[in-house]
Amino acid sequence: MICVKVRADIHANRCGAVMRLLLVEDDEMLGQATSDALQGAGQSLDWVRNCMDARAAARLHEYDAILLDLGLPDMPGEELMKQLRSARSNTPIIVLTARSQVEDRVTLLDLGADDYLVKPFDINELRARLRAVKRRTSGNNDASDVQKVGPLELFQASRTARWKGRQVNLTGKEFDVLETLLMRRPRVVSRAQLEEVLYGWGDEVESNAIEVYIHFLRRKFTPALIVTVRGKGYQIGSEEILQAAVAPPPLGAG
Ligand code: CA
Repeated sequence: MICVKVRADIHANRCGAVMRLLLVEDDEMLGQATSDALQGAGQSLDWVRNCMDARAAARLHEYDAILLDLGLPDMPGEELMKQLRSARSNTPIIVLTARSQVEDRVTLLDLGADDYLVKPFDINELRARLRAVKRRTSGNNDASDVQKVGPLELFQASRTARWKGRQVNLTGKEFDVLETLLMRRPRVVSRAQLEEVLYGWGDEVESNAIEVYIHFLRRKFTPALIVTVRGKGYQIGSEEILQAAVAPPPLGAG
């Protein structure tokens, strides 16, 4: 599989939530510019150049969104979209199209695209569309960046957290783990899914890295913050559980 992996510098992310993205684009310059820009914003991104590799990547990984060019070497992007949708993939797809006719846009949306951008597009517009996709898929239509569960507050733009009104200092990766669990609540998130969010392809992942982050998060907030679901993964504590939790002396409060 031909693939350029762009490792996101999560700690440099000042633009909100980390998303795992699949870019399907055969144009080198446009692909490089897009991946550079999203990398700069701290997103985790895999870049493939044709539909076959895109299909394989989409089977292997759970992406938060797919950025899809239509004019691809092995088959039209529309066909890939049809295949993904008939395979019951509901990963949001943002089409990057050079076409501007209204009929084409209607067709795209009918085929299962969630959104589209006409090339050449402004990278800030793409980022805004991605934020909108993230809000929609997390079921949160509130445009503010605060995620709140009981006494826990997560501020995505500033990447900070508060517990019972007090700031809790988090490392970049701790923040990413907490954010992922919060955004996917009440679903259980597996260790493999967390690793996918935190690391790109080919990165060395220490076997117990996720457990270590979970351990520190529980220490900094409360043991009830994260529930271990045996054999499945982790889940953020429910609102009732967090409300009832008695916080330990706040480590790292500042
Ligand atoms: Ca193309």
